[in-house]
Amino acid sequence: MEDISQILDSLNPIQREAVAAPTGHLLILAGAGSGKTRVLVHRIAWILATQQAQAYNILAVTFTNKAASEMQKRINQLLDGISTTGLWVGTFHGICHRFLRMHWQEAKLPNTFQILDSDDQQRTLKRILIAQGLDEKTWTPKQVQHFINNHKEQGLRPQHIHVEAHETWLKRMLSIYQTYDEHCQRNGLVDFAELLLRTYETLRDNDALRNTYQTRFRHILVDEFQDTNTIQYKLIQTLVGKDSHLFIVGDDDQSIYSWRGAKIENIQRINQDYPNTHLIRLEQNYRSTGTILAVANQLIANNKKRLGKNLWTAGEKGDPVYLYTAYSDLDEARFVADKIAEWQGKWQEIAVLYRTSAQSRVFEEALLQRNIPYRIIGGLRFYERAEIKDVLAYLRLLHHRHNDTAFERIINLPKRGIGDKTLESLRATARQHQCSLWDAIQHALASQQLTKRAATPLLSFSTFIEELSQKIAGQPLHEQIKQIIQQAGLVAHYQKDDPVDATRRQENLDELQTAAEQFEKLYYSEPDIISAFLAQAALEAGEGQSQAFEDCVQLMTLHAAKGLEFTLVFLGGLEEGLFPHQNSIDEGNLEEERRLCYVGITRARQTLYLCHSENRAQYGQRSNAYPSRFIAEIPRELIQEVRLKTAFSVKSSVAIDASFQLGDNVRHPTYGDGVIIEQEGQGELMRLRVAFSNGTSKWLLLAYTRLEKM
Ligand code: ATP
Ligand code: MG
Repeated sequence: MEDISQILDSLNPIQREAVAAPTGHLLILAGAGSGKTRVLVHRIAWILATQQAQAYNILAVTFTNKAASEMQKRINQLLDGISTTGLWVGTFHGICHRFLRMHWQEAKLPNTFQILDSDDQQRTLKRILIAQGLDEKTWTPKQVQHFINNHKEQGLRPQHIHVEAHETWLKRMLSIYQTYDEHCQRNGLVDFAELLLRTYETLRDNDALRNTYQTRFRHILVDEFQDTNTIQYKLIQTLVGKDSHLFIVGDDDQSIYSWRGAKIENIQRINQDYPNTHLIRLEQNYRSTGTILAVANQLIANNKKRLGKNLWTAGEKGDPVYLYTAYSDLDEARFVADKIAEWQGKWQEIAVLYRTSAQSRVFEEALLQRNIPYRIIGGLRFYERAEIKDVLAYLRLLHHRHNDTAFERIINLPKRGIGDKTLESLRATARQHQCSLWDAIQHALASQQLTKRAATPLLSFSTFIEELSQKIAGQPLHEQIKQIIQQAGLVAHYQKDDPVDATRRQENLDELQTAAEQFEKLYYSEPDIISAFLAQAALEAGEGQSQAFEDCVQLMTLHAAKGLEFTLVFLGGLEEGLFPHQNSIDEGNLEEERRLCYVGITRARQTLYLCHSENRAQYGQRSNAYPSRFIAEIPRELIQEVRLKTAFSVKSSVAIDASFQLGDNVRHPTYGDGVIIEQEGQGELMRLRVAFSNGTSKWLLLAYTRLEKM
């Protein structure tokens, strides 16, 4: 009995009602931090501790693998000794994979079936497209991949899709879909979307198996239900038997994956499909301070399409929510990193959240400079991203023709019609002559061993590289990068490759130019700036892998932050066009952006900083940025502006010497001699970055510092 009281004691009365509810379907609709996930975990422990069912009778679905393992851990803690063997906790993908491994025969798969990840799926599609003699420009693997996955996520096979005689594009797509499915079936391959669809179909078509699972899973619990898609919903439906009990947990205000097929309507469907569902609302928030919660509530109240709820907390009002107006994105990152450096607790209690993955770079650099360990959750570090590596490979090859890795990466990017056979023969030539692939081209062309069809694209590639190399020689680094992107036609290539992903890639490419520009300012005296830049990029990409499980500041996009909580949260880039993102503004999808902002704010427990910058390098150029409308939607009295200006006004009589310029030699009473390498702001807000001869560099506020020109 001890276990049982422990399970209920740490809950409020309504949470307790949910956890100890008699069997039946339950929908818990509640705002952020109200204990939804906690209630779900305690419910499982309760069922087991009261022996209403065995672990074997329970299925729990989470949104991420991390959430699944945390859930399993918490349940074990609560149960202290009671067995949880047979309990299924996992993501939809994880659970379906497990199912198919057990029931490969019923699912008509070979028992050795393998999972095709997204990359492999694309490669497979590419081979099929080539084999069908389709023009790769019109039929890109990515586009076909989207088509197939999209339909699978809706539960649709080729034969389910209605097509009119004149719809030739659709007809062709369906035939590729068909061929692809046959190929996968023959070779025992299962892609991510197929895991779910195949599981669903197997259960749907096999009465005995379905009965077994419907009888087995007497309790089906789903977290983050607002972001389930069609096939996931169908799967749940198929598993619910006459004695099964649904325990569904969600928050319509946190639905942020509609762009990936999630259907917020699934919440309403629960009530229609299971009319006896009991609805429970949790309204007390246990995560955040009163002020943070008030900010979140006020913001989300601007959304019209809501099921409606309110959240309150018995906790303290806490600190105000801070708003920092930065001069630039660099200043924003510096501010955030400085605040983080002051933190007394563990690094892992801190999160830096942003709208687009490109924003991580400046934060990464600011943290690296201060030696603060960080980790990017659910994404790659900036310099590890494919499009960044593509451009850097060009830059490498242009400056070192014998870099074979760079050569291999870009020889056919974008497509140049250089076939695998030609490449293989180039590699053989290189081995034979012990030379680089670049030199192998010259050998191959000179020996005239190639067919004209193979030789022509090679010749034009080598001419292209030579010409580009001459063109960019002597130009500043960022200009070289810009030329590479333009001349190689990379933007068009990514657009073709994957229109959905192209904006994100474009943002990263723009960010790379900005990074180069900043690098030039910082290391303008470096004799070989290109090599220095490439070295830094390689180091930054490779760094931190070993820190993966250590105590780190967490950097992530808002989408990746769902369900998590942190003591201190920074929300960066609250600017019109960035957050809300321009695409969403254009598509009239503002409410989802606002929900995303709500998710971000409600991650914070104790302290929240909102940041925006007056100036941001975006889309390849620096331009004025305007505060996000979301800031305006928060009542002023809840916000305290962090203004360096206020500090200045005390000292406003200080005379500012505005004649300091980049490159000036200066002397500081404490730090000694140095050179001005960066400059920002004007008048009393002017800041200078000085590289001192002792090897350090510092940002100095001109109004405060005693700097002498030499
Ligand atoms: P989200 O919508 O962000 O996923 P949630 O509704 O799932 O949030 P939880 O993560 O379960 O909320 O809970 C938020 C925090 O509040 C957690 O730290 C949790 O342990 C704590 N909490 C929840 N209920 C209580 C309670 N009754 N007493 C004390 N702490 C609680
Ligand atoms: Mg949760």
